[in-house]
Amino acid sequence: MDIVLATRNKKKAEEIRRITVGLPVTIFTLDDFPGCPEVVEDGMTFEENAIKKAVSASQCSGKPALADDSGLEVAALGGAPGIHSARFAGEPANDRKNIEKLLSLLREEERRKARFVCCIAFSVPNEGVHVFHGTVDGTIGREPRGSLGFGYDPIFYPDGYARTFAEMTRDEKDTISHRGKALEAFKQFLAKRLAAAASRSSER
Ligand code: IMP
Repeated sequence: MDIVLATRNKKKAEEIRRITVGLPVTIFTLDDFPGCPEVVEDGMTFEENAIKKAVSASQCSGKPALADDSGLEVAALGGAPGIHSARFAGEPANDRKNIEKLLSLLREEERRKARFVCCIAFSVPNEGVHVFHGTVDGTIGREPRGSLGFGYDPIFYPDGYARTFAEMTRDEKDTISHRGKALEAFKQFLAKRLAAAASRSSER
């Protein structure tokens, strides 16, 4: 099966290639379809944005397409930065400034519960869209710690750990992260679907 990733981000493409190793899929990205338009992420939810990107990529490529959208929801801020996580401190996107802004908003705040959310949409031509979710709960620290990962990783302590995401290896983070969980759900779905297709064709 061919799958187009609705991204031009090489890191995301590598991540999906890693999790689909061993499955009979060929991964493309939007770089392989230069005519596909950039999608404006103007949805009100992670799910709306992921679906919009996946549907656009499958329509313009004619192939099944996968897109994700993710972000951080902080309870004391009513769920902000949420869908605005990447550009919380303004354009252009800057991880360090986003962290500074969040820490300053929470300076006097004792309630520090937060959650990372990831939504993956898989759009199949003439079939529809399948959606997969993953979340990880945690707390926001008082200062950045660690140098691995990206985004808000240096201030996010997943529940049950005394280390931030930025102090964990990629494999360690993948097993508990919102994106790891959503990708695992997608992988299970894909593996079942490919096995069913293989058994149908062997019956013929
Ligand atoms: P996008 O889904 O790639 O658009 O990511 C949205 C933004 O959410 C990122 O730019 C980060 O600021 C934040 N974010 C999403 N996932 C993570 C994560 O695993 N660690 C840290 N920040 C994240």
